[in-house]
Amino acid sequence: MIHNKEPNNININYNSGAVTVIPKVNCPLCKSNDASKFLAVKSDFIDIRFNLVRCNRCSLIFVNNKPVLKEVIKLYNKMDYRSLGSFEYAYSYPIFRNIVREVTRLKNAKRILDIGCGKGEFIVEMEKRGWDVYGIDVSSYVCKLAERKLKKKNKIYNCELSDCDFHNDYFDVITLWTVLEHVYDPDTLLGEIYDILKDEGILIIQVPNIENLIFKFTKEKYSALQTVPLHVNFFTPETLEAIITKNGFKVIRRLSTRLIFPSNLFKSFKSSLIEKPSFLKLIVFFNLLLFLLPSTILHFFQICIPFLGGEDLRFYSIKTK
Ligand SMILES: [Zn+2]
Repeated sequence: MIHNKEPNNININYNSGAVTVIPKVNCPLCKSNDASKFLAVKSDFIDIRFNLVRCNRCSLIFVNNKPVLKEVIKLYNKMDYRSLGSFEYAYSYPIFRNIVREVTRLKNAKRILDIGCGKGEFIVEMEKRGWDVYGIDVSSYVCKLAERKLKKKNKIYNCELSDCDFHNDYFDVITLWTVLEHVYDPDTLLGEIYDILKDEGILIIQVPNIENLIFKFTKEKYSALQTVPLHVNFFTPETLEAIITKNGFKVIRRLSTRLIFPSNLFKSFKSSLIEKPSFLKLIVFFNLLLFLLPSTILHFFQICIPFLGGEDLRFYSIKTK
């Protein structure tokens, strides 16, 4: 059985064709309504241009014309979101095994919650190592698949964290693998995580990094931006640290993973060079190409170097009192 609760509704303000869009939102990090235009990007999923803005107070980059949440959840239910990056998916299994090894080094087998668990690849591996595992995902489609894979039943929740009745100080580790960039209200989510995590419990957050090398040269043509409106927050190392710290956690380790992601490199530079050809871009492209094999090897073995310009950031934090 899967725990199933209806997601919360958001007031409908504005209707643009088939999709209902909230025309303007405040900054999800500092709540300011003062933001400047950053980029307009095309979505792979909905035929609307989405506006990325940068908060003038805290510098968070976010989408400020979001579809209402229930329409985005409809999108998740229609697809297997995690298999979209097909190249990464092909070699994700050994990567997950390496991540599992890293997490088990931090704590002995105890209780873990994976928020946005997808088909449960990560928690299945943790369960094999004797952990008491729980998963949450807004997509009913992936929850069914995750539930089937776990040995213990009733551990998968198809709802939002606020709808689960977990006790305070319940989990030793909580993970969000590329989830926080999807969350409409990341501040509230981190507050809820604070309550159910034990004192000195570990929070691991991985998100895409908007300050990565490919984005710097390809801007709105950076292929990972077309994940709007599924991705609504675009973090830098500074804004990720700010939102974690604000909610009562202390960052203890900062890593950059996926230094250069092959499909993003090729797609982004291809469309950027076609639209605005430049000699500098061509030079940068060939230079980045040289790093493709080493960065793929580093990624495969989860070897991280002290450099925060990669395509993903992974921050380890502990709950402070
Ligand atoms: Zn802000």
